[in-house]
Amino acid sequence: MSTQDESMANGRRGERLSPQTQVTIVGRDPAKAYGFVNTPVYRGSTVLFPTVKAFATYDQEYTYGRQGTPTTRALAEALAHLEGGVKSHLTPSGLSAITTALLSFAAPGAHFLVPDSVYQPTRRFCDSALKRLGVEVEYYDPLIGEDIRHRIRPATRVVFAESPGSLTFEVQDIPALGRAAHETGAFLVIDNTWATPLYFKPFDHGADVSIQALTKYVVGHADAMLGAIIVNDRAAPLVDACYRELGQCASPDDCYLALRGLRSLAVRLKQHWQAGVEMALWLQSRPEVARVIHPALPGDLGHELWRRDFLGASGLFAVVLKPATDHALAAMLNGLERFGMGYSWGGFESLATPFTPTRTATRWSAEGPALRLHIGLEDTEDLKADLTEGFARLRTAT
Ligand SMILES: *Cc1c(COP(=O)(O)O)cnc(C)c1O
Repeated sequence: MSTQDESMANGRRGERLSPQTQVTIVGRDPAKAYGFVNTPVYRGSTVLFPTVKAFATYDQEYTYGRQGTPTTRALAEALAHLEGGVKSHLTPSGLSAITTALLSFAAPGAHFLVPDSVYQPTRRFCDSALKRLGVEVEYYDPLIGEDIRHRIRPATRVVFAESPGSLTFEVQDIPALGRAAHETGAFLVIDNTWATPLYFKPFDHGADVSIQALTKYVVGHADAMLGAIIVNDRAAPLVDACYRELGQCASPDDCYLALRGLRSLAVRLKQHWQAGVEMALWLQSRPEVARVIHPALPGDLGHELWRRDFLGASGLFAVVLKPATDHALAAMLNGLERFGMGYSWGGFESLATPFTPTRTATRWSAEGPALRLHIGLEDTEDLKADLTEGFARLRTAT
């Protein structure tokens, strides 16, 4: 850790600060901003060098817009610090962070293990671009745990994980995956978007690379697209090179929005967590609901691992309804007023979207229609009232 990183983590007396305090400190330095509290937006491509020698040797802090500006670097350093990695790279979306990270390890003949519950666009990239490059992608049961060992081959370069999984929220045994990957020199790459840098510390559990779709909770207001790849020492050289070669970079304006989102991340997440659990318990008691999938609920399939490894839960989970016709489901969803229908999540607003997951290594079976819910920052009584009316429409439509 550099002195600056340490001062971001610790108070003047050297005490370890709480994450809620840390997010108010990281990524800003008023002394460098004329006393202004926030790191300003530095837009730029050209950076001027004072002499031929400096130009030839790249001997200055900033060299070109694509290589970072004070705004983008402030966000990158803040994220590396909060996740517990040594360095982070910013990309224009969460998906581009995933594809860049995976490309860093791709080579003809390489073998990647990817969980069956992976975010669908990640799967599409694996099945198209990675395949064309000659990478063999094998999908595995996200609940495989220690048995991942039997799937690892000498050619395995990446064990990918996403916990809990997209749509179906299987909690993965990340330390077990890490141990197995490292035995043969493979890299554990995880999509840590659900838990955010605050509720799961990937590098403490064996990850070599962690990915954040900052679009979700870090930006937090549904107003920008952004991603981050955070690395440990071992993964840094490969990911740094690939990131540069692909010409990846992120907009300083969007990075500013992410820095602003960070300031309230801890208090927003606390609310999403608490309201999410309250809504999940309420849904469990509804006669229209077959089951709720939420790792923070006792009795959930992933609850024990969640309790062991996570520091909190976000506001995203799934609910499986009892059998209902498409028409009845549409009547329920079309009339919702507090819950919107749309992609993404992690903003201040609640969302309800129907889903059918893609599965090739495992089987998904549901009693009835499945919904993914994002519980936003609204009052839960208003959310319950909206769903209560929705359930009435579900029951009366046929
Ligand atoms: C949304 C999402 C992404 C992709 O992020 P974008 O910014 O939309 O590209 C990646 N992983 C997970 C788990 C996501 O939910």
